Amino acid sequence: MLTGLFRMHGMLVASHPWEVIVGTVTLTICMMSMNMFTGNDQICGWNYDCPKMEELVLSSDIIILTITRCIAIVYIYFQFQNLRQLGSKYILGIAGLFTIFSSFVFSTVVIHFLDKELTGLNEALPFFLLLIDLSKACALAKYALSSNSQDEVRDNIARGMAVLGPTFTLDALVECLVIGVGTMSGVRQLEIMCCFGCMSVLANYFVFMTFFPACVSLVLELSRESQEGHPIWQLSHFSRVMEEEEDNKPNPVTQRVKMIMSLGLVMVHAHSRWIADPLSLNSNLDVSQVGSMSLDNHLPKRIDPERPLWQFYMSRLVSMDIEQVICLGLALLLAVKYIFFEQVEHESTLSLKSPLSQGPERAPRWSTDQCCRKEVAPPQPPKSPLRTATPTPPALAEATKEERGTAECVCMGARFLSDDEVVVLVNSKHIPSYKLEAVMERPERGVSIRRYMISSKLPNSSALSSLPYLDYDYSKVMGTCCENVIGYMPIPVGVAGPLHLDGKQFQVPMATTEGCLVASTNRGCRAISLGGGASSRILADGMTRGPVIRCPSACLAAEVKGWLESTDGFQAIKDAFDHTSRFARLQKLMIGLAGRNLYIRFQSRTGDAMGMNMISKGTEQALARLQEQYPELVVLAVSGNYCTDKKPAAINWIEGRGKSAVCEATIPAKVVREVLKTSTEALVDVNINKNLVGSAMAGSIGGYNAHAANLVAAIYIACGQDPAQTVGSSNCITLMEASGPTGEDLYISCTMPSIELGTVGGGTILAPQQACLQMLGVQGASQECPGENARQLARVVCGTVLAGELSLMAALAAGHLVKSHMTHNRSKVNLQETTPGTCTKKAS
Ligand code: NAP
Repeated sequence: MLTGLFRMHGMLVASHPWEVIVGTVTLTICMMSMNMFTGNDQICGWNYDCPKMEELVLSSDIIILTITRCIAIVYIYFQFQNLRQLGSKYILGIAGLFTIFSSFVFSTVVIHFLDKELTGLNEALPFFLLLIDLSKACALAKYALSSNSQDEVRDNIARGMAVLGPTFTLDALVECLVIGVGTMSGVRQLEIMCCFGCMSVLANYFVFMTFFPACVSLVLELSRESQEGHPIWQLSHFSRVMEEEEDNKPNPVTQRVKMIMSLGLVMVHAHSRWIADPLSLNSNLDVSQVGSMSLDNHLPKRIDPERPLWQFYMSRLVSMDIEQVICLGLALLLAVKYIFFEQVEHESTLSLKSPLSQGPERAPRWSTDQCCRKEVAPPQPPKSPLRTATPTPPALAEATKEERGTAECVCMGARFLSDDEVVVLVNSKHIPSYKLEAVMERPERGVSIRRYMISSKLPNSSALSSLPYLDYDYSKVMGTCCENVIGYMPIPVGVAGPLHLDGKQFQVPMATTEGCLVASTNRGCRAISLGGGASSRILADGMTRGPVIRCPSACLAAEVKGWLESTDGFQAIKDAFDHTSRFARLQKLMIGLAGRNLYIRFQSRTGDAMGMNMISKGTEQALARLQEQYPELVVLAVSGNYCTDKKPAAINWIEGRGKSAVCEATIPAKVVREVLKTSTEALVDVNINKNLVGSAMAGSIGGYNAHAANLVAAIYIACGQDPAQTVGSSNCITLMEASGPTGEDLYISCTMPSIELGTVGGGTILAPQQACLQMLGVQGASQECPGENARQLARVVCGTVLAGELSLMAALAAGHLVKSHMTHNRSKVNLQETTPGTCTKKAS
């Protein structure tokens, strides 16, 4: 509920950035100008002679104050230095913006409450800088930067706000209450400082909730996408932020402690301010008097102003004391170091290539150790040629260890180390092996090191030498498509076509290692074309997820079933489900019972996505809503195999899953004879006795076809689909009849009720797979009508299956199948390698 509120707030702010920015800036300026130029006309030092606070401070706390300022500056410097490790100029810019605007808001608040006493601001700013929390701001920025497109920026900001907002609010409350205790101390200086502290926390919170998310949203929306299609702001490691959402969630125990603490503090405040002394509400520390706190016995006297007000303020700003010079000097020094020297150091190290990929003659000299400030040895020449995955000499790791200690390496950060040093850190568990790509300056280097490390553990240490890994965009793979990557598998991609379907022509990409398959499909396409083309229709569109829920009793399970089937029950579940995605819309619930176990099959459209992640997310929310209604229910698993995903199941065959499609064509007798080299009569006969009777004899469910899985798998692999979904997607019944005036033409249809595919998400984000989708004109999200691209792809799959069925059935009817496979499919190399009879082991 609270999370939902913060999510809504985040969405509102991120969707209306201009309004929020203009609103907050206007409010701040109004507050400032109200006080500066219109409000109180009593201005110390200009038209009133007041005792100067700075003099009192100078006499008592000048050293402490200067030290506080210096610490604040150094603290901010280190915060920015840490942020640089993230490697994103966007994060740095956003953090800078947050600091500057928060300081501005804070200054305004202080000036407002101090009645224009600028010297007080001088004192207050260091407290502000010490209390500013850049980590939360950057965590929110990372959510935005993890977006895959500009469209997602708002959603992700809302999501980030939902995760971080409640914690930040609670933290701000606790901080205010804790610091606020100091305002009751009775020690005037402490009271002033605590006041500043509270203002800092509030200013920070205000900016974090309003101006900051609006600015992030605006800046990213104004940034262009790069040519490769992914946003220019996105670094690959940010794509894991969503994955780590759980980690970002606060510890519930800590949260509870904070809440109890804040309740206690509220009571303390209430007691001391209102209950113990009701009059103290007015007499207690009044922040508006902070500026004149030291006036005690002096009342301000009116004097004639010597110069205009603006000149007075300028001179106040320009005149500097010694401690201000010290602070400014330190700030400038650190700024110069940060901007110029660290930048150079950082870039020069980043530009280092792995010594293994550069070769010994180009191995870079290492500059001063950034972390430990001592000269270090240059990286070793390529003792371990990782590119060819040859094992390292055993002494290598030890030698490296001696050159630069593990602690030193850990301190430096992986991207600044040689490959061998990284290996040492992985072996000593300082770097998790699965994070290798993420911690390197280039993911490819991480892959290369993993290959090297794994090679020594293989029966044949050069086994990986033929598995390619270079020149691949791993940034798209990381956090999305594959983990522990050691390369990529090149699979030949053939093309079948043109496939004449619904008046259009398609060149169908097929990734396969089965000889004959593409050629055979091509023949089927030709027969279809000569017959005037095929026609297809989508019959249904709905992905499914079927969790299993345990009820205390079968009777309650029946009651829950009744509630879910009622209009109110369905609507409540649908509301919870639908808000999780812009595309998922719950269509139907199918409910099965097994004793006290409840199986609910959620069915929803998923736009152009295949939709398993999308619908799982929706299902989870819907189940949470169901548990609100029936708290005694236990969700055993979000997937209870009632979906059914990646396993043969009658439910998909009967109820459908994903896209249900049908495709038909009529092949003239002449084409059957000349292209398919058989007759309609023979084809119909084989079809009945093989695809229908044969499959029935085998007890098949959904397998009433010759080889639909061949076509589905080849297209799925080429087009970035989940290959395991070939299981359900290949459900198909192929029917053939004699038709036409002479009864010699062939009518063929393929009906496929559960084609599970998509054109966004999953493997469709990878460039080669996108190329294949582009061949079919269905890559990405359909702009006109969400889901249309995916449905078109399903039609192409169904049409290609029809082509494949035609050709294979013809080969069987004509008795050509074995001959053509012997010629085009059997590997000559393998045939010659092993001699029968050499194996002495018996099969068990
Ligand atoms: P996804 O990439 O997880 O989700 C699709 C994303 O694209 C959503 O964020 C969606 O927005 C966005 N989107 C933008 N335009 C869209 C459009 N026109 N239509 C649909 N979505 C659009 O993809 P998915 O299909 O849900 O999941 C596919 C992945 O799930 C594959 O990697 C597959 O291997 C894997 N998988 C998961 C499970 C499982 O149990 N979770 C099972 C099998 C397979 P919204 O945020 O608004 O929805």
